[in-house]
Amino acid sequence: MKETTCSTAQTLANEQREFLTQMLQTSLPGARVEFHADAINVQHAGQQDDAAIVGMVKRLVYIARSLNKDLLFHNAATPQFERDPQPYLESTREVIQVHPGFFTLQGGFLEVFKAINGRVRAMADEVDAIEQEYPAVWPVRLFKQIDYFHEFPHQVILCAPVKDDFDTRKRFADTYGKDAEFETVAMDQMMAPAEYGLEPAVCDCCYYGLENTSELQNAYYTCYNKVFRNERSGFGGLDRLTCFSVRDIMFVGDEQFVLEARQVLIERLSTFLTSLQLDAKIETANDPFFSNDAVMKSVFQNAHRLKYELLARIPHLDRDIAVGSINFHRDFFGKAFNIETLTGATAFSGCIGVGMERLTYALYCQHGERLSQWPQPVLDYLGLGRRVDQGR
Ligand code: AMP
Repeated sequence: MKETTCSTAQTLANEQREFLTQMLQTSLPGARVEFHADAINVQHAGQQDDAAIVGMVKRLVYIARSLNKDLLFHNAATPQFERDPQPYLESTREVIQVHPGFFTLQGGFLEVFKAINGRVRAMADEVDAIEQEYPAVWPVRLFKQIDYFHEFPHQVILCAPVKDDFDTRKRFADTYGKDAEFETVAMDQMMAPAEYGLEPAVCDCCYYGLENTSELQNAYYTCYNKVFRNERSGFGGLDRLTCFSVRDIMFVGDEQFVLEARQVLIERLSTFLTSLQLDAKIETANDPFFSNDAVMKSVFQNAHRLKYELLARIPHLDRDIAVGSINFHRDFFGKAFNIETLTGATAFSGCIGVGMERLTYALYCQHGERLSQWPQPVLDYLGLGRRVDQGR
């Protein structure tokens, strides 16, 4: 056995030590790993030189940075603004309600929304993500393969066409003419069975598109899309919508790559929130948004730290809202869609998602209802220049 000593700047927690041992023993079969206050000793068969082992340990220490933490980041800012900006945004028609749960956006609000999308897109470019474009609907088969109907029935919105025959079309046309009395359309015998539903998340289409791939190269992907969930704010607020917009960055490949990608993005998102001068944090998700067996699932999720949320303070509600999330799916999608990496192992995956309406709303809640009130460095970071109050 050969011995390589790698110095470390910090003492590692038990969870981090277990992770390093497991990963090193996978890469160097038979290796023994000992932890000291400021160093790690690796005894190995000598197939790799010292520099390679030190590089491997450094990379694993980086990946393990978040493993034992619930609070990954906290930017404790003091918001200058304390009112709900929505009434003002509606009065200037930057935000127009189309129907409870969905809105038309324009003017300053849309500029901020697009600038945020651009910033997250730039984050994706920095890691050479492959850009993708998805349909706004998922085939029923995609919902089925990931057991979505069973896990999230409360979020499902299915789409069905009018049945494909002349008589039904005529009956439908007569029943729902302009002068008929109706506010909703019954999903009855005139409608065909649903073959697809509105997409309730962005990233899943990426893994679906990789179905039955073998020898998959580690890669990042990115997509911006509309997302639909059967929920809405009781007060017509912008914080809980039926149709909202998300940019995701996905990372698919071997386990180490996926965990490293997650750590890279945790750090970029922390810088992003700091640049936006938001009172915000990144924390383990304890929001039990699963309908079935909610307690068990949130316990599992916390124990494995599979989901973190980007939480921004909403001063007038005196609570935080999730403006983004960081997810580690382990090999869930790799198994569901039979995706294999270069070594023949089932692929791992993860993603980050940023909700554009929520983040834009949180910025207005904290910085002010008029862009002219916002801190200049935040406007500069978003490429929005100097704003002068138009006195509206
Ligand atoms: P999730 O896939 O649940 O982690 O959602 C990703 C992001 O989408 C969240 O962090 C929010 O920013 C946003 N989001 C989720 N649900 C809604 C909603 N009903 N209305 C507006 N934004 C939402």
